[in-house]
Amino acid sequence: MPAKFYPALRDCFCLGFFSLALALPAWSQTEFQQCLSGLRSPAKAAGVREDSFARFTQGLTPDLGILEKLNNQPEFRMPIWDYLAALVDDQRVAEGQAELAKHRDLLNRVASQYGVDPATVVAVWGVESNFGQTFGKYPLTQALGTLSCMGHRQSYFRGEFYATLRILQAGHIAPERLVGSWAGAFGHTQFMPTTFERLAQDFDGDGRRDLMDSVPDALASTAHFLTKAGWNPAQVWGFEVKLPAVMELAGEGRKNKRPMSEWVARGLTRVDGGALPANSGPAGLMTPAGPKGPAFLVFRNFDAIYSYNAAESYGLAIAHLSDRLRGAGPFATPWPTDDAGLSRAERREIQTVLTRLGHDIGEIDGMLGDKSRNAIKAEQSRLGHEVNGRAGQKLLRALR
Ligand code: CA
Repeated sequence: MPAKFYPALRDCFCLGFFSLALALPAWSQTEFQQCLSGLRSPAKAAGVREDSFARFTQGLTPDLGILEKLNNQPEFRMPIWDYLAALVDDQRVAEGQAELAKHRDLLNRVASQYGVDPATVVAVWGVESNFGQTFGKYPLTQALGTLSCMGHRQSYFRGEFYATLRILQAGHIAPERLVGSWAGAFGHTQFMPTTFERLAQDFDGDGRRDLMDSVPDALASTAHFLTKAGWNPAQVWGFEVKLPAVMELAGEGRKNKRPMSEWVARGLTRVDGGALPANSGPAGLMTPAGPKGPAFLVFRNFDAIYSYNAAESYGLAIAHLSDRLRGAGPFATPWPTDDAGLSRAERREIQTVLTRLGHDIGEIDGMLGDKSRNAIKAEQSRLGHEVNGRAGQKLLRALR
């Protein structure tokens, strides 16, 4: 089971079930309190004492904005080169290398206990919470209480709500510290509460598993997750490959792992033209942007990363960032586009220009949300570009 499922959607790699459109029910605080009262007994059966339930749900109100997020169908599907340009940019590589140096001893101890190398652990940390800088702002009891009583996934979220209450009851994290994403992923590792219960580690030995305020606990928990997901310390995640000039793209895919001898026979090489490693176990061929873009052979460790947040684009971001942290460069094969994606610094630059041009894009945060996209559309229209709300290098150059 992934560490989190819903939060994967924040990147607009949308899944079909979000099309279950629901009208917001008429709602009142009274009805919410009635629903919460109804949860007391099942919560008790799930290990939440009555006094804990009363204490941690006292004064709880629903957050209707969260329900809108649950029902929101993102209409903007981000190309993978945009997704990777923001997640694996020079700034994140530099900050990740600084974190690697800063926590070298800790990361070495984590590696020797769990078998996951420092660069991989730090790459997950960087993508999940920007090295502990972005945890989400939603109080977890409110977010998960709301989703337990409203919306179309109540039974799933009730399990997470009870787990949240058990975490608070056990005193791992103080209630006022427990904030996260609207869907309940929290802390440095962005674990869901049930994932926390299964896999979080107390690595600093203070008796609490604290993913909010303990970097040792968080980094060990990430490594523990990957180990339990099948991480093999003797293997890499995979690598970029060069496809032969003519190749029938059939039978490819992360899941369809074939012996390396078969890939050799089909004419694949390392991206620098070198021979594929023999005896390295079965690998799957991933071509996330089709045969003209970068291609990768991936091993079982890629699946372990994938299980952290079930999206291949996410897995590729972590894998690539880990390579960059080890000193590797960008992919050798360019993405099949003449309008490459923007780093976070370039996104902030474009937001700054849009603001200067008089558009209300909200906070200049490097995240191109609805307001930014509307402003981008207006500028695309003015400039005679295709009007699609996407900002790439072409628009940035035109606006500079
Ligand atoms: Ca601890």
